[in-house]
Amino acid sequence: MFENKKVVIWDLDNTLYRITPEIADSLDETMAVALVKDLNVPLDLDECKALVKESYKIHRDGGEYFYQNYNISPKELSFYYNKRNPVHLIEPYQNLLEKLKQILLEQYVFTASNRETSIRILKHLGLYEMFKDRFYSVEDFGVYKKNENADVYLQYCKKIGFKPNECIFVDDSYSNLEFAKLAGMTTIRIFYQNNSAADKGYIDAAFKGVEQCIDALIAATNQKAC
Ligand SMILES: [Mg+2]
Repeated sequence: MFENKKVVIWDLDNTLYRITPEIADSLDETMAVALVKDLNVPLDLDECKALVKESYKIHRDGGEYFYQNYNISPKELSFYYNKRNPVHLIEPYQNLLEKLKQILLEQYVFTASNRETSIRILKHLGLYEMFKDRFYSVEDFGVYKKNENADVYLQYCKKIGFKPNECIFVDDSYSNLEFAKLAGMTTIRIFYQNNSAADKGYIDAAFKGVEQCIDALIAATNQKAC
C-alpha cells in the first residue's frame, strides 16, 4: 500500500498531538471567549460554550452556528480563536522528532489552524525545525477547511512538487480524507477510541494513535530501502 510513495503529509491537530477531552473542552471555551469577548456575540460565556459544542456536534465545526446566526466571519473567528489557543496544555509524544525522522519519506504538514498557531504548536512539539519550510495552512490556499473539495489537495501537491499518487495523507478527521482520496492520495486515518470510520471506502488504512502509524511507516519505508 505504501509502495512507490514519496511523501507523507500530516494533519497537525489531533494527529501529531492528541486533543484530549480536557483540551477539547478548553478549546470550546477558547472559542466561546473569542466569540463573546473579541467578537461581541451577545451571549453569556457558558451559553456560548454550549452552542459551540452543539455546533461542533452538528456541523463538525464549532463556529458554523455563529456564521449562520450571528453574522460572524470565519476569518475573524479563526484569527481570535487561534490567537487565544492554549498551546501550553498540549502534552507532546515522547521522542516524536526522532521517530518521524526514521520514516524514509519526504514529510510535510497540512493544517486547518492558522500559520501563527501552527508555529506555536510545532515549537511546543519540538517539530518546528523539521517542518518550518514544510508546513502549510488552509489559509495559504485561501480556504478555512480541508473537507470541502479536492482542489485544495491538488493545489497542495502542486506547491510541494509531487503527484497526488505519490502522497500519503494522514488525518484524524475522516471528512478530510474523503477529499484527499478524491485528489488521488493514499489515506490514513488516526483514531483514538473506536475506528468509527471503518466502513469508509476512501480510507486506505487506520491506526489507533499516531505512534502505531509512525511505526508502520518506519517499517514499510525501511524495508523498501533494504
Ligand atoms: Mg486533526
